Amino acid sequence: MAIKAPRGTADILPQDAALWRFVEKTAAETARNFGYEEIRTPVFEHTELFQRGVGDTTDVVQKEMYTFNDKGDRSITLRPEGTASAARAYIEHSMHALPQPVKLYYCGACYRYEKPQAGRLREFHQFGIEAFGSTDPALDAEIIALASTIFKNLGATGLELNINSIGCPECRKKYNEALTAYLSSHSETLCETCNTRLGKNPMRVLDCKSPVCKEVAAGAPQILSYICEDCRAHFEMVQQYLHAMDIPFTIDASIVRGLDYYTRTVFEFVSTQIGAQGTVCGGGRYDGLLEELGGNPGPGMGFAMGIERIILVLRAMGLVKEEKNSPRLFVASIGQTEAALALCQKLRGYGVYAVCDVAGRSLKAQMKNADREGAKFSLVLGDEEVHSGEAQLKNMETGEKITVSLGDIPALVALI
Ligand code: ATP
Ligand code: MG
Repeated sequence: MAIKAPRGTADILPQDAALWRFVEKTAAETARNFGYEEIRTPVFEHTELFQRGVGDTTDVVQKEMYTFNDKGDRSITLRPEGTASAARAYIEHSMHALPQPVKLYYCGACYRYEKPQAGRLREFHQFGIEAFGSTDPALDAEIIALASTIFKNLGATGLELNINSIGCPECRKKYNEALTAYLSSHSETLCETCNTRLGKNPMRVLDCKSPVCKEVAAGAPQILSYICEDCRAHFEMVQQYLHAMDIPFTIDASIVRGLDYYTRTVFEFVSTQIGAQGTVCGGGRYDGLLEELGGNPGPGMGFAMGIERIILVLRAMGLVKEEKNSPRLFVASIGQTEAALALCQKLRGYGVYAVCDVAGRSLKAQMKNADREGAKFSLVLGDEEVHSGEAQLKNMETGEKITVSLGDIPALVALI
């Protein structure tokens, strides 16, 4: 039996790649217009990075990581997200010494062992940004504006922005007490994992995907009612700045986000057009992460958007991207493959898309191919052309032919 791709992975075929390129390019260009620079980090990291960075009690770390021992017996994990890696790189390369905030963007594959369904894969792709070194609410608002601008530039409409503040560790103490009391009174209903979370990190229960836990979570006390004065003032400034930039939002006190490192502002962009996996972008502030990972204490904030889900949104809106890439010249040959290859190679040196037959076709089949590929011009190389150094350049649209010298490549390039 033929081998298939592993469950939860997907091939991006040539006919889909144009839309992918459009999404990746638009996101990157938008981020660059906001002053972000690209960072590329390894696809695998030490497992400890995610245990410490994402948090031991999260779904991601408890259930979803691709973790294995390499041949040197080190515990390695395929990155389930990008923030911990970016933070590690910031610390490792002493980026705190650069002017702050340091603003980074990335795009790449992430891995989570999940139950595959529409918009949920085991290998998926994220475009994300991280900004380190500023606690100013202006940064929070600018980052939300960046996500919103990416969606605008993609032409994705109908996305709703929900924001919340989950406070700082200080205000969370009081909240955790109230939450633990509430959750304990429902402990028989909660799933097994949540029962173990109860004592360690009760907020994680609020993000559990199990329907029974969700129901309990719906009646839980909300963090927004417990945040301290500083956190409240910070959140109010974020809202004021969003208003100033005409970015509509809703406060959703139920957002807690699935990763442990979040503090204060958290947000999501949600689509109602793509089914249950509607969250296309999630982000927030993580003022404790750098210190947690062994760096100097310092704030940070970022988001990640799922490219597969964005593509679902764009397709639901009927957006199709076709980039027909047609040759400028098709070099057909009659027994002169060597000359045809050499001519194409010279033309490509001038940045010209030129092709010749590499499948041993007859002249008739070659010309049919030139038509099918939408070549602008064609020429035929036979013994006579190769000896005389001249050939007939045919305009495929008008049928018009002119004689060209095969020795003068710049002149040929100028004609096609
Ligand atoms: P969800 O609640 O849908 O599981 P999450 O909170 O785990 O999402 P984040 O860790 O915040 O997601 O990741 C940011 C974004 O990456 C999500 O909003 C989503 O668009 C995308 N994403 C996360 N997990 C997957 C996945 N398994 N397949 C496809 N996209 C994903
Ligand atoms: Mg998840």
